[in-house]
Amino acid sequence: MQLTKTNYIQYLQCPESLWLLKNKPEIYPNGEFSLFLEKLIKEGYEVEEYAKMLFPNGVDLPDNCDSTFTKERLKDDSVFYFQPSFITEDGAFARIDILEKIKDNSFHIYEVKSSTSIKTDKKHNHLKDISFQKYVCENSGLNISKLSIIYLDKNFVKKGNIKPENLLLIEDVTEKINDLYNIVKIEINNAINFIKKKSINENVCSCKFNTRSNHCDSFSYFNPNILENSIYMINRISKKKINHLLKNNQSKITEVDANSDVNFSDFQLNQILSAKTTKPLIDLENIKKILENLEFPLHFIDYETYPSAVPKIDDLGPHKQHVFQVSIHSLFKNDKLTHFEYLADKMELNNKMLSNMKSFTGLEGTFISWHASFEKSRNKDLINWFPEFKNYLEFINLKMFDLEDIFKKYYIDYRFNGSTSIKNILPIICPNLSYSNLDISNGTMALDTWGRLVLDKNFKEDVNLTRKNLLSYCELDTKAMVEIYFKLKKMV
Ligand code: SF4
Repeated sequence: MQLTKTNYIQYLQCPESLWLLKNKPEIYPNGEFSLFLEKLIKEGYEVEEYAKMLFPNGVDLPDNCDSTFTKERLKDDSVFYFQPSFITEDGAFARIDILEKIKDNSFHIYEVKSSTSIKTDKKHNHLKDISFQKYVCENSGLNISKLSIIYLDKNFVKKGNIKPENLLLIEDVTEKINDLYNIVKIEINNAINFIKKKSINENVCSCKFNTRSNHCDSFSYFNPNILENSIYMINRISKKKINHLLKNNQSKITEVDANSDVNFSDFQLNQILSAKTTKPLIDLENIKKILENLEFPLHFIDYETYPSAVPKIDDLGPHKQHVFQVSIHSLFKNDKLTHFEYLADKMELNNKMLSNMKSFTGLEGTFISWHASFEKSRNKDLINWFPEFKNYLEFINLKMFDLEDIFKKYYIDYRFNGSTSIKNILPIICPNLSYSNLDISNGTMALDTWGRLVLDKNFKEDVNLTRKNLLSYCELDTKAMVEIYFKLKKMV
């Protein structure tokens, strides 16, 4: 059984989930190989291609060649090798991004990352990644004398053709690894032994005592008795509170004793009460006050953006969000509703969107979005690229109201499952409106589709239909806010 670098990192996060993947792959809930993950992988390859350009005489080795073949190739006169792979006797497998042969016959490992820093958090630990590569190389008979991580320079700004030496930074991490390496060796051995175990306790896993954000897709496999309306659905519940409730045999929201000495937040108390009474808790007075304070016309606004590790457009840096689409529904005092939409047809910065938006909304009224911090941040970015629209964009931010706020404080319904996302709220409040009938039904699909539409020279789908689908998705985002607004208005 093989252990790859990805497996090792998964082991560090959760041994049980790796065991399931290795021993019962037919049961392992792979989830969907999400478009987002696919995009990250493609971006990783793109950064790697730039990194390879730093070593013009590097030799590409075939995919998945075995260690014997690799070691034979390393005897030639080349200095840099791309993607050499090695496997140890105990099954640890590594493919090295770039391997340099040094004159003293030792080797230098380069690990390429598409981030703008060297990460060492629980989910991404680049130092442990490269230590794993060193372990495999050394146990395959190579002497590794130097280790470096290549990553994106966060200060890089694209101006014309990208030169890899401007885009990328190389950091020598040899010293940093020295402190870590012994621990990594033990962890790799533990991981190899763990996945070889014939059986583990499959009736429960440690996330039973942890918050929802820590759960992986295998949670319900390991915890089959934890069903809908569980305490994990309580908004922002802490690990401490989960443990307290479980100790008191309270695993469903309806079993929670809201009068105990657990210090629940107002949101949490209201959610518990809503679940017990199966009724929403709505503070009509405060909602009325908020709605009365909004100045007409009301501009319901939503942006779609395309982030990219390697910037595709001049004046953008790594991972910057490019706004390629906007939908605005404007509601006037007399209930007249108008709609504006813009969808870019090229990967470029141009001021057409802002200029048309400004003509449509003018400088009056209130701008309403959901999770407004996102739209506000994009407006700040746009000011940098289009200073001539500074006044307009600052006006939007000043007059921005976040509709989500009502659902954080004044409208709690147990059926929202502790979430304030519009995707969870809309089906309950406006069941007639749904994303599920759309061909493009979420933001990741939208950015992926648009990216392919404007960048892929071999784009095979119907261009007009694709544009129509993109427009329908963004339009529904703002239409949904309008409908939710109408529902609230009717209640007060
Ligand atoms: S839910 Fe948590 S403990 Fe359980 S398998 Fe997944 S990551 Fe591991």
